[in-house]
Amino acid sequence: MQTLPYTTEHEQFRTTARRFIDKEIAPYHAQWEKDGIVSREVWRKAGETGLLLTDIPAEYGGGGADFLTTAILTEEMLRGMHNGPGFRVHSDIVAHYILHYGNEAQKQAWLPRMASGDVVGAIAMTEPGTGSDLQSVRTMAVRDGDDYVISGQKTFITNGQLADLIIVIAKTDAAAGAKGVSLILVEADRPGFSRGRNLEKIGLKAQDTSELFFDQVRVPITNRLGDEGRGFAYLMQELPRERLLIGMAAVAVMEASLEWTLAYTRDRKVFGKPIADFQNSRFKLAEVKTEVKVARVFLDHCIGLLMAGKLDVPTAAMCKWWLTELQGRVVDTCLQLHGGYGYMSEYPIARAYTDARVQRIYGGTTEIMKEIIGRSL
Ligand SMILES: Cc1cc2nc3c(=O)[nH]c(=O)nc-3n(C[C@H](O)[C@H](O)[C@H](O)COP(=O)(O)OP(=O)(O)OC[C@H]3O[C@@H](n4cnc5c(N)ncnc54)[C@H](O)[C@@H]3O)c2cc1C
Repeated sequence: MQTLPYTTEHEQFRTTARRFIDKEIAPYHAQWEKDGIVSREVWRKAGETGLLLTDIPAEYGGGGADFLTTAILTEEMLRGMHNGPGFRVHSDIVAHYILHYGNEAQKQAWLPRMASGDVVGAIAMTEPGTGSDLQSVRTMAVRDGDDYVISGQKTFITNGQLADLIIVIAKTDAAAGAKGVSLILVEADRPGFSRGRNLEKIGLKAQDTSELFFDQVRVPITNRLGDEGRGFAYLMQELPRERLLIGMAAVAVMEASLEWTLAYTRDRKVFGKPIADFQNSRFKLAEVKTEVKVARVFLDHCIGLLMAGKLDVPTAAMCKWWLTELQGRVVDTCLQLHGGYGYMSEYPIARAYTDARVQRIYGGTTEIMKEIIGRSL
């Protein structure tokens, strides 16, 4: 079994994260779920506390820590289903595109302000007409002198309402297929950019998810991340990390669900004894415990691979589809053991259940993950 190199610094970070969540997130989360969005303030406070961009180098304002801090923050936020703030997209996805493909000026311009929470990041790949098939995006970035003029529409964008900076996946050459895709930074105050509705969802209620519109938005070509036409290749390089993050969230939620369910079934009595004492409950809990343990071993293996720079695309796809499908089954079993209380939103297992469904969809669906693995065989 893989042992990840957790240190006392990591445990100090866990304490800091836990305190922050108890003080700055937990008391407000129910209201954010009603509002469909978190406060702007929580971003700045998270920045002040050092919880954003934790594994981005300190020279760019980040925490200079390793990937395990990301794992810790994910676990701590999901221990109570406090997943409203879209920190993962911001810190672990958007910032990493800028770190890996941005030039020095772009890194200096954006990463310190993202680390402080003054700038919120989003990434816009999906369009109304295409999600799985990213080569077919229709948003165009047409070169005009030293500018690009961007036109198109995106949907389902996490942090879409709050974002100040959006990485837009656009075609710079409509005829070139995957080789015509580029990544372009768009500041939300550019004329022609507008946000659509904050979309109503069945889960992830406190996290904003939006349509975005680009009507002849003019940006300088210096806003392009990396080379023109290399966007698709960059996506392929970054998506394994994103898929690992989704698998990581799946395991964190499964482990938390098991804890809540153990506590609940020991506490609640029916027919004169705790639910946990029925053989069926013990067997279900034994199955869940086994599955969660197997999941954790595989996840830690994948984290170790990522940290060693060896997480390949098919293994990340396995991590994503298998852990999220298992998450769906585990939270369903755990909810059943809660009876009617499991259906009440005030119980975290209810939120775990509704939030779990999207895990099999975003970041690449289960079917697309199986396509990727199948092609690699
Ligand atoms: C809450 C939420 C947050 C999101 N956040 C973001 C974000 O921040 N940024 C962003 O860009 N996107 C985001 N997305 C979009 C998400 O990544 C897409 O919804 C997802 O990739 C699927 O694309 P689609 O919805 O267009 O489905 P489609 O591509 O239309 O797929 C529909 C169905 O067809 C299946 N299918 C498609 N192709 C194949 C195939 N080749 N073989 C077999 N089956 C296939 C799919 O598996 C799926 O079951 C988010 C989505 C949600 C729901």
